[in-house]
Amino acid sequence: MQKLSNYINGNLSAPQSNSYIDNYNPSTGKVYSLIPDSDAADVNIATAAATAAFPAWSATPAAKRSEILLKIAQLITENLDNLAIAESTDNGKPVWLAKRVDIPRAASNFHFYATAILHHASESHRMEEGFINYTLRQPVGVAGCISPWNLPLYLFSWKIAPALAAGNTVVSKPSEITPMTAYLLSELCIKAGLPPGVLNIVHGYGHKVGAAITSHPDIPLISFTGGTKTGAEIARTAAPMFKKLSLELGGKNPNIIFADCDFEEAIKTTLNSSFSNQGEICLCGSRILIEKPLYEKFRDELVKRTAKMKVGNPTDDSVKLGAIVSEQHMQKVLSYIELAQQEGGKILCGGKRKIVEGFEDGYYIEPTVIEGLPQNCRTNMEEIFGPVVTLQSFETEEEALQLANAIEFGLAGTIWTENVSKAHRVAAQLKSGIIWINCWLVRDLRTPFGGMKSSGVGREGGWEALRFFTEPKNVCVKY
Ligand code: NDP
Repeated sequence: MQKLSNYINGNLSAPQSNSYIDNYNPSTGKVYSLIPDSDAADVNIATAAATAAFPAWSATPAAKRSEILLKIAQLITENLDNLAIAESTDNGKPVWLAKRVDIPRAASNFHFYATAILHHASESHRMEEGFINYTLRQPVGVAGCISPWNLPLYLFSWKIAPALAAGNTVVSKPSEITPMTAYLLSELCIKAGLPPGVLNIVHGYGHKVGAAITSHPDIPLISFTGGTKTGAEIARTAAPMFKKLSLELGGKNPNIIFADCDFEEAIKTTLNSSFSNQGEICLCGSRILIEKPLYEKFRDELVKRTAKMKVGNPTDDSVKLGAIVSEQHMQKVLSYIELAQQEGGKILCGGKRKIVEGFEDGYYIEPTVIEGLPQNCRTNMEEIFGPVVTLQSFETEEEALQLANAIEFGLAGTIWTENVSKAHRVAAQLKSGIIWINCWLVRDLRTPFGGMKSSGVGREGGWEALRFFTEPKNVCVKY
């Protein structure tokens, strides 16, 4: 069986403990590879390597750093098929989705930051009295990057690409549930000629490797994407050490559908925003709020189309939903469907584990639509992170906003209306970091990305990421 390695100081190496964790293929429920069960000892070695590599990497001209990162982008693109199959095997998502979204966007992350760094200018401020201030934006040092399992290579590269472009070195940990593409990336980094120690990838559990990274005194900056509870724990660890922190956390996003929307577009996109990647995208809209006059028509059409979505073998191109990432997560999602019924919700379609012929032990769930629940219930307040959406109706713009904002999260939201004024008015009042009007998941890498309230702290993306991964220093000169 394939044994993955850590990538430390330019080498592929076994963990110090020499013990390994089973890695499951969620589409079959079978173990198919082994992951290093690393711990603080490995993180210490990786951090020492990253610290030693920092002076040379940060002094490497941006154009040279850019060249190496572009090479990595190119190698990802050349290996698109392999990486997509690996991502699907590890995560359960359809191969076609990994080919169309995950892997191309991982390549784009490297490409974007490799070129952005060449244009990253800093400000200067002239004072009439005969002084000039200029800002140096210097890399911080060793960056700790921790990423989740839902979009494994995409979100891993989302952090390490800007960190490296800005001149930091990195100690990183992908989710232990989906380590494969990060491992394959380490092979590509070696091929691309990334100097030893610049990027270190330590595999293993969050409570061991993740905790060792966040508490390490030589890692002054942490970029984390994952659950809100883990984010809070990381913040508690990092705060007394005054680490720079970027937290991209959970969501419970509203889709606001006004009666004057383009019905076909709204239905088509809502189907996607509900069930893409098995609903395991932090940006998925899990609460669908529909204006009363349209409620029944929208509900009936959404349910009709949801019931037709094919769930099954992720290598089948006609499949819309693959497997849920792990047995544990499948059980969690199923328990929320159970809870929804206890809370008085009516299942309109789906609602059960799906047994797929030939993949009987795989972790599949039917896409599920629920109605009849008030906003103030656990099903509508807590993040489920699976193929489950609830429907609610509203009568006025104010009520739509009140329902949309009545949660602890504030990551994303969509607004569907043909009335331009209303769209902008509502967008301005939604307490979320990212709003889409008449579309969903359109991503421009130049834009700020992140959430409000319990959905996170700080922004990444575009200049925001380069600002986060650098420390501004003001220099004042008398002339
Ligand atoms: P987790 O918070 O469980 O894990 C995220 C990462 O943190 C994993 O690598 C995990 O390792 C690690 N980790 C766990 N415990 C610790 C710790 N004590 N210290 C440091 N690191 C730790 O999230 P999931 O992987 O379950 O991902 C799903 C969550 O991510 C959802 O809530 C989703 O909304 C959120 N998310 C947010 C996004 C955003 O941009 N806002 C984007 C995508 C997802 P291990 O796997 O070993 O536990």
